[in-house]
Amino acid sequence: MKYLKKLCVMLLVLMLGAGLASCADPAAAVSHEPGRMEAHFIDVGQGDSTLIICDGKTMLIDAGDDSQGTAIQNYLQKQGVKRLDYLVLTHPDSDHIGGAPVIITKFDIGQVFMSDYTKDNKTYEKLVKALEYKRLAYQTPEVGSEYALGAARVRILGPAGKYGNPNDASVALMIQNGDNRFLFTGDAQEDAEEDMAELSGDLSADVYHAGHHGSKTSTSEAFFERVRPSCAVISCAEGNSYGHPHAQTLNTFRMNGVKVYRTDEEGTIIAVSDGKEIRFDVPASETWKAGEPTGSASSGKKPADGTGDPTGAEKGGMASAAEEPAYILNTKNKKFHRPECDSLPAVNRTESSESRESLLSQGYAPCKRCNP
Ligand SMILES: [Zn+2]
Ligand SMILES: [Zn+2]
Repeated sequence: MKYLKKLCVMLLVLMLGAGLASCADPAAAVSHEPGRMEAHFIDVGQGDSTLIICDGKTMLIDAGDDSQGTAIQNYLQKQGVKRLDYLVLTHPDSDHIGGAPVIITKFDIGQVFMSDYTKDNKTYEKLVKALEYKRLAYQTPEVGSEYALGAARVRILGPAGKYGNPNDASVALMIQNGDNRFLFTGDAQEDAEEDMAELSGDLSADVYHAGHHGSKTSTSEAFFERVRPSCAVISCAEGNSYGHPHAQTLNTFRMNGVKVYRTDEEGTIIAVSDGKEIRFDVPASETWKAGEPTGSASSGKKPADGTGDPTGAEKGGMASAAEEPAYILNTKNKKFHRPECDSLPAVNRTESSESRESLLSQGYAPCKRCNP
């Protein structure tokens, strides 16, 4: 109840101050003293990793897959980051937590926010071990709770319920700097989007980090109507096997005049907010090019991300059965690996759910380390 009251007061304040701001037009009212905030949508191939810096305070949201830990570490160090005040791991899929052990080991970490959805696999085990090694405990933040990030405020929107799949159980949050709002929902899908809307009311944002890499299982029409972003950022890899982003999501953005920025086209993208305006360091994409799913559709196996299935048929409890892809391919040297192999390719990498025989027949050779 207490937080509900607080939420109502806050919503009133926000309704007065925000909602008008867009990427290009400065808004009139200021809800609180803004700082300079940067959002770095780091190119981690297929996966998410976003660094937020505001007044010297830092938050990392997700850490890509296990091939990306060191690359993210290097990127953070290049930005002068020594400490992460917050590490948010939205949900335990490998393309969000795989690189986290490196980050946890190499940086001084303040608070760790994680989903209450846990997994029983090597990737998750490594994460838990890294946390133990650094004597860090994680918490699943409560919906409605707020945290300071320099002058910016972070409001928790999800997980807004208990879910049978990791994507819906994503930690979701709104970061507000002055009049500018950035929304991050991890891989939350329609059910979770609905719950968020119900619990948190005002979801309007200027920049929307497109849920689930622009998959059509996220960004439902009702949710989009509530967010009404002027800009959307899509984190995905060029030619990813899941078919991210989906044409339907791109259409929603296009029809509504949303500027789209994509890491598969531009690499790392930086958005800077001064509390009134948001500027991107790259031009908006004009390709409107949808991804094309490969591999997973024919064999019926599910990719690591749970819901890459373009039919979106696993909405509900089914996605909890989400498995790692059968193999990780290096398309250049034509080797295939187990997903948990410790020498997975960082480039020329594709996930495949095809059978061993099928890969052999295509000229792929098994990795000598993991012996798939
Ligand atoms: Zn994902
Ligand atoms: Zn996921």
